[in-house]
Amino acid sequence: MDERLVIAASAQEAAKLAASGAGYLAGGTELNRLGSKLHYEKLVSIRRIAELAKVEAKGDEVRIGAAVTFQDALQSELVPAYLKEALLFMGSRTKRNMATVGGNVACWRDDSYLAATLLAVGASVELMNETGATRRLGLEEWAATQPEHRLVCRLIVPAKPGRVVSKRYANTMESLSYLVVSLCQDGDAARVALTVKGVGAFVSPELSEAAARGAGEDELVELAYGLDVAVPSDMYGSERYKRYLAGVTLARMLEDGGRDGAR
Ligand SMILES: Cc1cc2nc3c(=O)[nH]c(=O)nc-3n(C[C@H](O)[C@H](O)[C@H](O)COP(=O)(O)OP(=O)(O)OC[C@H]3O[C@@H](n4cnc5c(N)ncnc54)[C@H](O)[C@@H]3O)c2cc1C
Repeated sequence: MDERLVIAASAQEAAKLAASGAGYLAGGTELNRLGSKLHYEKLVSIRRIAELAKVEAKGDEVRIGAAVTFQDALQSELVPAYLKEALLFMGSRTKRNMATVGGNVACWRDDSYLAATLLAVGASVELMNETGATRRLGLEEWAATQPEHRLVCRLIVPAKPGRVVSKRYANTMESLSYLVVSLCQDGDAARVALTVKGVGAFVSPELSEAAARGAGEDELVELAYGLDVAVPSDMYGSERYKRYLAGVTLARMLEDGGRDGAR
């Protein structure tokens, strides 16, 4: 049960207050969700911290403050279109008005709206420790370690990483997703990331390499069947169906890219 709420005035204060094990209250949509497993004795609110609520362009990157809501990010001219596609996976406008990008990354759910897209483009996070020191970490590395109680200050994404497409599968717009496929193509390079319910989000080197070669549907489906992850069979479909869907989806994304390029 969440017992105490402290409102932080700065990122450093928040990081310091939470160092002993408190949680951060951002949009509260996961913390207050019925059935959420996240419970803290103390919560540090980061909603009023102006420095965490900015979107800035710097060089060829866009830096999105952790407390920026999904809706504010959608309305920002600086946020790239490929990320807006993923932000819209959160179908409820009411929820988009509250939920933050930092909260979404921090939760790192196995049906995450943003994870596959962020991994595909090689996004990074800026973290702050209790002394106020910041460091930047590639999201893949962050996901592997998820340093506890570290404040995520910013999400850093490339402004123009190439062609990025993401597709989310769920029973309805409002339902939890069982598969997200994201492809980032830049010249001869490609990076494919998947989010699979029951598994989580990950980059697939096999599918990335095949996508870079422009492999066809049969090969992509075979590779998806062979991915070394424990895809569950559940109410959303069998393991085989989900693997097939991942391969076919990627094949369609590559075909669409070929068609667009030929126009
Ligand atoms: C009905 C319903 C369905 C949902 N479906 C999905 C779904 O399909 N996919 C999905 O991804 N999410 C889903 N969510 C969860 C949630 O809406 C999103 O993940 C949202 O982006 C979380 O952001 P928040 O700001 O509300 O986080 P909060 O609820 O405020 O915080 C969540 C967690 O993140 C930590 N945190 C927050 N901000 C930071 C920060 N800056 N640094 C470090 N840690 C931080 C908190 O300590 C806490 O542990 C759903 C929620 C509801 C209510």
